[in-house]
Amino acid sequence: MIAAVGFDFDHTLGIDNKLERVAFLRMLDYACEDEAEPLGTLAEEIERIDALLVRQRSGRCTIEDAVESFMRERGCSDASQYVEQYKTMCVQMVDSFVIPEPGAQKMLAELRRREIPVAILTNGWSPLQQRKAERVGFEGPVIVSADLGVQKPEPAAFEALARAFGRSPQEIAYVGDTPAGDIGGALRAGMFAVWLDAEGIAYPQDVPAASAVIHNLAELPALV
Ligand SMILES: [Mg+2]
Repeated sequence: MIAAVGFDFDHTLGIDNKLERVAFLRMLDYACEDEAEPLGTLAEEIERIDALLVRQRSGRCTIEDAVESFMRERGCSDASQYVEQYKTMCVQMVDSFVIPEPGAQKMLAELRRREIPVAILTNGWSPLQQRKAERVGFEGPVIVSADLGVQKPEPAAFEALARAFGRSPQEIAYVGDTPAGDIGGALRAGMFAVWLDAEGIAYPQDVPAASAVIHNLAELPALV
């Protein structure tokens, strides 16, 4: 019996249209009016930014370290001053960049009507992930990896979600789009793992099969 539903955020409840990549480029653009120098063409810089964001999202560096090292490499003497500027800019960009996944708001309203508790467990940093959740009308708790100090698919991340619900893992469904991070992690933690297969990606053979597969969020309430 499923008593609560946890969600991934990015590409599950909403998409952010490369918000952080654009924030890096804007920050570099401002800094270049002053002391910074790009390290290559725009296309090369985009590749480097994306690689840095992959490192940060997988927990190999913090967002603060990512911003600081990026700006230092481009000749900024006081690179730390850009950290707060970057974070503020990202949060301000949420309204115009983040788009709810189709059916997200209707599905959340249906769970709310049935009084099923919901929460988000997301890899990322605060307050950006909270602001994204607000943008799609999400009203439950938002648990963010940078605050936890642990990333999905680590079991400790899913244990934090279970604690937030005050439920055992077997009573929790977790919905996400990333097979290894979301489904593998939730299954290992003992949860009912729902794979949102909305973007046509291939499911890897080395990740155990999801407990259920949906192709859009409207299919979710029937599983709960
Ligand atoms: Mg995702």
